[in-house]
Amino acid sequence: MGLPQNPNIFANNPLDRASYRRTDKAWIAEQMAAPASLFVPFFRLQPFVLPEEKPSQGKDIGWLRMGLLNELAGPDPLTVFLGINRRGKALFAADVSGLKDPENHPALKGLGAFEELRGLAMAGEIPPAELASMAQAKSMIDWHNRHGFCSVCGMRSEMADAGYKRTCPSCKAEHFPRTDPVVIMLATHGDTCFLGRQKIWPKGMHSALAGFIEPGESIEEAVARELHEEAGITVSSVTYHSTQPWPYPSSLMIGCHAQAETDAFKIDGVELSGGRWFTREEVAAQLAGKGDGSFWLPPPFAIAHQLVKAFIEK
Ligand SMILES: [Zn+2]
Repeated sequence: MGLPQNPNIFANNPLDRASYRRTDKAWIAEQMAAPASLFVPFFRLQPFVLPEEKPSQGKDIGWLRMGLLNELAGPDPLTVFLGINRRGKALFAADVSGLKDPENHPALKGLGAFEELRGLAMAGEIPPAELASMAQAKSMIDWHNRHGFCSVCGMRSEMADAGYKRTCPSCKAEHFPRTDPVVIMLATHGDTCFLGRQKIWPKGMHSALAGFIEPGESIEEAVARELHEEAGITVSSVTYHSTQPWPYPSSLMIGCHAQAETDAFKIDGVELSGGRWFTREEVAAQLAGKGDGSFWLPPPFAIAHQLVKAFIEK
């Protein structure tokens, strides 16, 4: 669709989401019955993955023929329409968490395994385009699992629009899948950037600061507030870098650079247990694998890594 390439894992979903098709029940039913359509089973929010066929070729998402779904999960598993791929095939994700031992089910036995998405992303074992559509699928299934009841009147709600809506049969309220915006920002001051750490993080790990955007708050306000609350940093300007869909369970990480007024800071001791200004040379050496070992940064699949990288390259 001619969008600029986003540097973040879980972004750049190649599917045509074909949202206008979701309300067309006949079309969706036709696609679910079509031999060419494919689905990926999810078990406890983990996609089905095929092992590498040859060494270093990488793994692949376990797309299966739609006909197998009934055999695998019975007549009515939670099934969400993901979109149409470049070959014109309709793709779905189905939640088979009701199964006791799906990897040993006759329909799947010996074919592959259910694997955690984050591990696959970190290991770089799955093509990035597939990771993006798996993030979409995981967040959608998770949303249905968490929103089985109407938040207005408490009645059990029903899935509609091929998964993109839940409706309440009692009070008629409509509920839509949510995305929670999170700001993640690298404060900079001259040739330095600010990295903090939380007590629970692995030893030495430092990263950009982050926090949920609150109701009634702009991106810029959330960036300034979080930096001030957690690190006592006062911000003079905020610039947008990129976003990363983050399917835990369904956030959108909004990556920003924030210019600090001064290099004064004060760690709050609650959200952050440490942090300081790092020079461009220090972080560049660390990213190049030539650091002194006193700290380390999140790997490339994290948007924080991309924010630091952009700061170095500026
Ligand atoms: Zn209701």
